[in-house]
Amino acid sequence: MSTAPRLLVVGSVAIDWIITPRAERPEAVGGSATFFSVAASQLAPVRLVGVVGHDFPQATIADLRARGVDMDGLEIVPDGLTFRWKGRYHDNMNARDTLETQLNVFANFDPKLPASYRDSEYLFLANIQPDLQLQVLEQVARPRLVGLDTMNLWIDIAKPSLLKVLGRVDALLINEEEAMQLTGEHNLVKAARGIQRIGPKSVVVKRGEYGALLFHGEDVFSAPALPLEEVVDPTGAGDVFAGGFMGWIARCDSPHGDDLRTAMIYGSTLASFCVQGFSYDGLAELDASRIRARFDAFARLTDFRRAELR
Ligand code: AMP
Repeated sequence: MSTAPRLLVVGSVAIDWIITPRAERPEAVGGSATFFSVAASQLAPVRLVGVVGHDFPQATIADLRARGVDMDGLEIVPDGLTFRWKGRYHDNMNARDTLETQLNVFANFDPKLPASYRDSEYLFLANIQPDLQLQVLEQVARPRLVGLDTMNLWIDIAKPSLLKVLGRVDALLINEEEAMQLTGEHNLVKAARGIQRIGPKSVVVKRGEYGALLFHGEDVFSAPALPLEEVVDPTGAGDVFAGGFMGWIARCDSPHGDDLRTAMIYGSTLASFCVQGFSYDGLAELDASRIRARFDAFARLTDFRRAELR
């Protein structure tokens, strides 16, 4: 029997149309589960649950498989079209507008886990309609840690379902503005504490180029983002962060305090590669030595001497 940690993700597998101030990519492979899997597979084997139509590139499915992503849970609807999302970034690349969302095959998605996935120990409910997240959660027998991501759209149109699934997760990864929108708090600490009261004992607040904060019980940890001179495309950085975070937890099979802090740095490390290319191009050529070198760059970025005040 394999002793590899069992990490499962459900989320969108998409074709994006990305417009940045400097370039445009009309047929970019995207989706929360795609970005998550590419990142997490650098650290631990991943199982993916999602749905695509006949227009999704076979070469990408083969590429994900080659990266160690188990694609048995990807449903291909022969007469359907893949989920499509179109977004445009503002000049500073920190903000973006959604121009178009086409649910397509997601409109009738009824996730059924392959029997072999039910023993997954680590589960990530990536950004997707919250009822679908709950449906997947209910099919996993005894997860050791459940993480969840969401977005403003679901807070707007499916809040009761979102609160229901949140009551059953251990870690919420969420953008700063969404944390405030969800709780009605304008102070980040109060927002995080409010979310902890809903259910998740760990809350990761993602702040784009300003890094991410982890609230775990009473503990608070701050991870920076790597200062980069050029950001090509931030799409998927949040999902890649989640992939690094969950991938590390699954790899060391420990969802506890100090390992969560290290997981934050793996999330930040992988996200820094993601933003350097369109789609998952920035992660395509990664290997252990490049990841290690950048992990060390994060250590240097925050290392300081503890000087006593005498
Ligand atoms: P991020 O930049 O981390 O927020 O993730 C961007 C990815 O989320 C894109 O590749 C989109 O395809 C995907 N996405 C956008 N809107 C949705 C949605 N409503 N449900 C699921 N995935 C979405």
